[in-house]
Amino acid sequence: MTRDFPSGTEPQPVHGLPLDAHLHTEQSPDSAVPIDVYAALAVERGIPEIAITDHVDFDPRDPAYAYSRFDDRERVVRGAAERWAKQGVVIRFGAELTFNRRWEADVRDHLKHHHYDYVIGSVHDWPESPYWPSRVRDWIKGRSLDEVVAPYYAEIIAAARSGLFDTIGHLDVVKRYLHPLITAADLAERPDLQEPALRAIIESGVALEVNSSGLRYPGAETYPSAAVVARFRELGGERVVVGSDAHSRGSFAARLDESYRHLAAAGFEALSFRRGAERVRIQVPRDTSNSTVDGLRT
Ligand SMILES: [Zn+2]
Ligand SMILES: [Zn+2]
Repeated sequence: MTRDFPSGTEPQPVHGLPLDAHLHTEQSPDSAVPIDVYAALAVERGIPEIAITDHVDFDPRDPAYAYSRFDDRERVVRGAAERWAKQGVVIRFGAELTFNRRWEADVRDHLKHHHYDYVIGSVHDWPESPYWPSRVRDWIKGRSLDEVVAPYYAEIIAAARSGLFDTIGHLDVVKRYLHPLITAADLAERPDLQEPALRAIIESGVALEVNSSGLRYPGAETYPSAAVVARFRELGGERVVVGSDAHSRGSFAARLDESYRHLAAAGFEALSFRRGAERVRIQVPRDTSNSTVDGLRT
């Protein structure tokens, strides 16, 4: 099935954010965007650093399984990084790996032999997943909310504890798979459902991504929502990062200022990002409302 597609909502471009750490190019099966398009937009919007995180899947039935070769992805991204450095944008070579315990050994093996600057671990709908569109209605029937979300969060907790990733991508994207049978509002009434996952993320030291792509889907919340970001902080969470998860030109850095604002509101002062050998802190802008939208003050 398709994943991470934006709904086509036109974003308001915001200028001057320090990083977009989640972008898909034509080397992902669900994007047709050449890397130079994102680089040019980054220059235009005053975003000095971006990470290209094309999909890598490990189940032969999944769309990004063997879709692009590591060597090709690295060559394209490193080549673009060299070309665009002179224009003031730094491009990092990352990947978004689909995690599931079924193929954890394969993920481990992949990362042992392939070196990225930055790695997101994400749980997507998997081939036997109860959230598959043809199964989700029956799955929900007669089950409590706890039981409904349990298979998703079990994989998230395992992903965090695996120690394989820099960041857990789009935590609680399960709300998209459940919509409209169970809504974001229904899930918001049960914040406790995410707590074990938040605690596993904190204990493992992996970063929590605040992914703005959820704002482009029904429910219109970041993955995870502002309330969950605040709870993560309360529980002692320190490592956070942001990404727009763009799969199209129009969704580059789309509403990413809202991810930054959720972080600032929760009291986070810095992002935690890996640039190859070093993990760095990047300051969260205090007030993104001072950023410009289409040249206007907002
Ligand atoms: Zn994803
Ligand atoms: Zn993605």
